[in-house]
Amino acid sequence: MDREILINLAYLLAGVLFIFGLKGLTHPRTAVRGNLLGALGMLVAVVATLVDQQIVSYTLILAGIVVGSAVGAVLAQRIQMTAMPQLVALFNGFGGAASALVAGAELLRGALESPAAEQAAAQATAHAGLGIDQLVAVVASGLIGAVTFWGSLVAFGKLQEIRWLKKPIHYAGQHPVNALLGLAMLALGAAVVANPEQVWLYWALVAVASVLGVTLVIPIGGADMPVVIALLNSYSGLAAAATGFVLKNNVLIISGSLVGASGIILTQLMCKAMNRSLAHVLFGVLGPSEEGATADEVYQGRIKSTSAEEVAMLLETARRVVIVPGYGMAVAQAQHAVSELAKLLESRGVEVEFGIHPVAGRMPGHMNVLLAEADVPYDKLKDLDQINPTFEQTDVVIVIGANDVVNPVARDDPKSPIAGMPVLEVDKAKTVVVIKRSLSPGFAGIPNPLFAADNTLMFFEDGKKAVTDLVAALKEL
Ligand code: NDP
Repeated sequence: MDREILINLAYLLAGVLFIFGLKGLTHPRTAVRGNLLGALGMLVAVVATLVDQQIVSYTLILAGIVVGSAVGAVLAQRIQMTAMPQLVALFNGFGGAASALVAGAELLRGALESPAAEQAAAQATAHAGLGIDQLVAVVASGLIGAVTFWGSLVAFGKLQEIRWLKKPIHYAGQHPVNALLGLAMLALGAAVVANPEQVWLYWALVAVASVLGVTLVIPIGGADMPVVIALLNSYSGLAAAATGFVLKNNVLIISGSLVGASGIILTQLMCKAMNRSLAHVLFGVLGPSEEGATADEVYQGRIKSTSAEEVAMLLETARRVVIVPGYGMAVAQAQHAVSELAKLLESRGVEVEFGIHPVAGRMPGHMNVLLAEADVPYDKLKDLDQINPTFEQTDVVIVIGANDVVNPVARDDPKSPIAGMPVLEVDKAKTVVVIKRSLSPGFAGIPNPLFAADNTLMFFEDGKKAVTDLVAALKEL
């Protein structure tokens, strides 16, 4: 059989494996198999691409693999689980940068290989083998790739909590500036298609898109970052798909489209979870951002501290307990202790469920992953819609390291920066025990009136130590 047909069949097989892989990832029970199928698909795609390679030497490819693998291995070893979203942001960014560079390299190769005499005649129709469709794809790769790279770097900085970047940065004429940059990009894109031999036009387009990537993301607040990351993930897929059209590589088109589509679906789910419309995120529009009450105004004289022994006594008489984990559980690595506490309570006839907010922690599914690692059965994890109506019948809610996702101001104060974000309404339970180390705010940086509520007890301690002490105290009763 013809080699090209064989390679395309391999690409088709890889595409099918990617699709079954994604299908597997939709449920925790099939997720591991889904991941393996996706990885197998990638192996098939990489081998087929290496066999297909026509331009770049194997030595260069090997050098790239060695350098990339070394950087990847060091990052994987060093990065903490809690810093995973930043890493994902960087990966998205690198994907975008790679697409922009490959498209630029193809354009440059075309310009270098174009015989001067043919250039004038070839203008607007073809360029050293690059047709109009490929030139449009080059423009799309450069534009989306550069926006993705710089947008992701800014998102990385915000998630890394770099102080001057974390807060939304507003500047005069934000929207007109973005609109002008968008128009400049379109004009430069048209110029690249019309004059492909003028490669500098492409790099000018990339420069303008880079500025737009920064200006689009800097006004967005930290609390909206999960949506931005999902969106940039989708952009990186679209950039890769466009590069697939430039290179006429089917598997890149398929995999890029899958990333683009799944990223958009995740973006919409995140928007729903945070009550932000996609248009608002796309144009960097924030929710209301007026300063609310200060920590002193909210907390002074109203905080009641508790201890492991006191909480153990409360739990002894409880019939229904809901555990609400947040970012602090991940920091404290308290998931195994939490799982032990749940099992102990269940062995004493207490009904235990977990309330999981879609943006609890620092990445979508963060809490699900940690609790699955600690063998908490998946059917005990309830999402917002399932758990919220049950809080009124709950004796004790144990909030461990969660803050923004249980902040009632999202519901009660339309001026709050997180106004409208659906929250776990733990304040409706009979008693709420909040485990955290201090009264410091969560990611959104605002005080939480839940801590000062009449039915709330604050257990100031590291998450893991608090739960371990609680288990010990319960066993002693
Ligand atoms: P928050 O960030 O609101 O609060 C976490 C709390 O954990 C802090 O108040 C902190 O208080 C406490 N904490 C930290 N370390 C420990 C520890 N060792 N032991 C006990 N407590 C600890 O977390 P939530 O999960 O409630 O909310 C997530 C926030 O992150 C939301 O604002 C969301 O928008 C944002 N976000 C979510 C992403 C996602 O995809 N899930 C991605 C990016 C941002 P103290 O220091 O006093 O202990």
